[in-house]
Amino acid sequence: MITKITSSSLNKFLACQRAYFYRYELGLMPVETAEALSFGKAFHAAMEARNKGMTCEEALADGIIHVAGNEQSAATLSGLVYGYFARYKDDQPLAIKSEINFTHKIGKYGFRAAGVIDGLAELNGGYALLEYKTTSQAIDTDSDYWVRLRSNIQLNQYVDALETLGYPVREIVYDVTRKPAIRPKQNETLEDYSARLFEDCAARPDFYFAQRRVSVLSDDLERFRTSRREICYQIAANRKRQKRAATKASPWLCCNQQITCNSCEFKVFCLHGMEATESEIPTGFYVGERNPELKQKI
Ligand code: SF4
Repeated sequence: MITKITSSSLNKFLACQRAYFYRYELGLMPVETAEALSFGKAFHAAMEARNKGMTCEEALADGIIHVAGNEQSAATLSGLVYGYFARYKDDQPLAIKSEINFTHKIGKYGFRAAGVIDGLAELNGGYALLEYKTTSQAIDTDSDYWVRLRSNIQLNQYVDALETLGYPVREIVYDVTRKPAIRPKQNETLEDYSARLFEDCAARPDFYFAQRRVSVLSDDLERFRTSRREICYQIAANRKRQKRAATKASPWLCCNQQITCNSCEFKVFCLHGMEATESEIPTGFYVGERNPELKQKI
């Protein structure tokens, strides 16, 4: 049995084994697509289009497909994408390759690392990983957002993959866009809201946009590889225990941490002591793709 291990599945396992089981072993998905997920996809699509040399209008058209049906998200995307193009109008796109798919073996038991990398750049005679991020957190110089990125699982997974593909990466270029806190005012049209957001981006570029370069540390990468291998072995051990456990879910421990449970898609049944199985799918859920992000970058 081959199991694709993505940065999302690693993060899920570390946050809560039970949530990992529902999402990646059972393939359980909420029927409603999270708005934040669609917005992230939309912004990434616009950035990919910019890397291909498309105009702002063309990039926006590529992005807007992912928020179709949500006019407010489309207006927000428009304000931000126009703001981004204006902010970096004098800078050429850095990527020499974009949307790079990868998959390679990890340890034993049929696990394979998998994912899609935003971009690869050539900088100062070496390679750099290019990573676009959207966030609701502050991205000013003093923000601890940047400190947390250093041990970011996704980035380590991508640096490791690029090395496997023959591109030893020396640096990571973070290109971060902050999602706006402003919303349409009462009686304001979405067109006016989008224009106001664009003006706000122009007035406060450092609030919305930041790029940073960070060197890759081989110790960080080695620590990540060890942790990833250990997670794979724990997944294999849990699967083995399932055969003798009271229920299939029981070897996968619940984290029961308020901060994690609050934002968990499975809390509607899990926090009420209910378990999902292949034959008993809770209302509002369906069994879908284990790793939809491998088809469409988020
Ligand atoms: S509700 Fe909490 S314990 Fe249950 S799956 Fe989600 S994160 Fe885990």
